[in-house]
Amino acid sequence: MTTSKEFSACVAHYDPDALPVEAAQEIVRQWAMPRTRDVQVERVGLHDALGRVLAEDVVSPIDVPAYDNSAMDGYAFSGEVLSRGGSTVGLSIAGTALAGRPFESTPGADQCVRIMTGALIPPGCDTVVPQELVTREGETIRFSSTAIRAGQNRRLSGEDLAKGKPALLAGRVVRASDLGLLASLGIGEVPVRKRLTVAFFSTGDELRSVGETLSPGSLYDSNRYTLFAMLKRLGVETVDLGIVRDDRASLEKALRRATENADVVISSGGVSVGDADFTRELMNSLGDVAFWKIAMRPGRPLAFGRLWSGERAGTGESALFFGLPGNPVAVMATFYFIVREALLAMSGATRQPLTVIRAIAAEPMKKRAGRTEFQRGISTRDDDGRFRVVTTGPQGSGVLSSMSEANCFLVLEHARGDIDAGDEVEIVPFDGLI
Ligand code: AMP
Ligand code: MG
Repeated sequence: MTTSKEFSACVAHYDPDALPVEAAQEIVRQWAMPRTRDVQVERVGLHDALGRVLAEDVVSPIDVPAYDNSAMDGYAFSGEVLSRGGSTVGLSIAGTALAGRPFESTPGADQCVRIMTGALIPPGCDTVVPQELVTREGETIRFSSTAIRAGQNRRLSGEDLAKGKPALLAGRVVRASDLGLLASLGIGEVPVRKRLTVAFFSTGDELRSVGETLSPGSLYDSNRYTLFAMLKRLGVETVDLGIVRDDRASLEKALRRATENADVVISSGGVSVGDADFTRELMNSLGDVAFWKIAMRPGRPLAFGRLWSGERAGTGESALFFGLPGNPVAVMATFYFIVREALLAMSGATRQPLTVIRAIAAEPMKKRAGRTEFQRGISTRDDDGRFRVVTTGPQGSGVLSSMSEANCFLVLEHARGDIDAGDEVEIVPFDGLI
């Protein structure tokens, strides 16, 4: 469990007024540890396992395939005949082996068995010559002895998954292929970790919920919806705590409630320099919270730490806390590049770094050195297979439509200045992310 002293020591290495993105990521990584004691496990059926985190290794109870079988439609025979000399091999057909209908006797030395893909290799056989390599005359086949080597086109039992070996490891986020793989082992239920619970709310007197009427100076709260969606995609349990007014009592109530009910608390808004000082003071009275100015755009102000629900820090329930900026695009950028990995780690999932692809800037791009910029990009694949990328246009951190228009983040590194057309840049595709 974290203590105030350890947390301050960890953060003290860095200048909180200009924290490089990598440093923020590293600190978060250190503090967002998966639960190792009292891991709560539930057993779920295959249909409910998709996207869940495996709590234990799944060991294969059988060999897959369970028996040696043919990789081709052709003729099965003993590979020994290939070493007899002579440029052609002639064999007579003793019978047929189909998938699910084996040929059960051992063919003679000059015999073969007509075999289809997936069928059990008959006793005494170890090689399959594909049908397109043979000439068939009635019940006899001929093929060149150099066309094939002994043992070819045979799938060995246990080649895919061997009995007693782990088929999937603990920490795996179960994917489509995994469901099939588990089914292929005859496994219908797996142990998964209990989902992480994340409570979130928006702060701001100017915010209205969908369904309310807008008065002058007010706007609809969109962050709660993007956060809900991004959290759902990560497979966590969500608790929506609504909009919290900019006053100490409301915020304190929300933070305590969130901490009692969740493993992680995420708020948006209210952490910028101009925001009321009570935020800082309150958050620090409830736990250990660092207020960072991250060298990134969008997303500069960010609060991170641990909150407690009790009377004092260190008492009651505790939760990891992320106070994200209010701007809608900043919420998404900080979620993917700072929060996401922490949530996966706490869920017990093995690390899943974001996919980064190199692309060519198809136009000049404005970029200030000394901060990482997460611009919204539209990438396309050229005929030559290379990705080219343009920005969506104005990059204001409130322009949420830029996220809907884009298909990738353009990640422009800290040290870099303006980008020329033709320069190489890195992109993180939205596919699978958003
Ligand atoms: P703040 O970080 O609270 O100063 O907010 C920065 C900007 O983001 C302000 O223009 C807010 O109106 C806007 N904003 C804050 N929260 C939300 C929200 N939940 N939905 C949409 N816009 C927001
Ligand atoms: Mg605000």
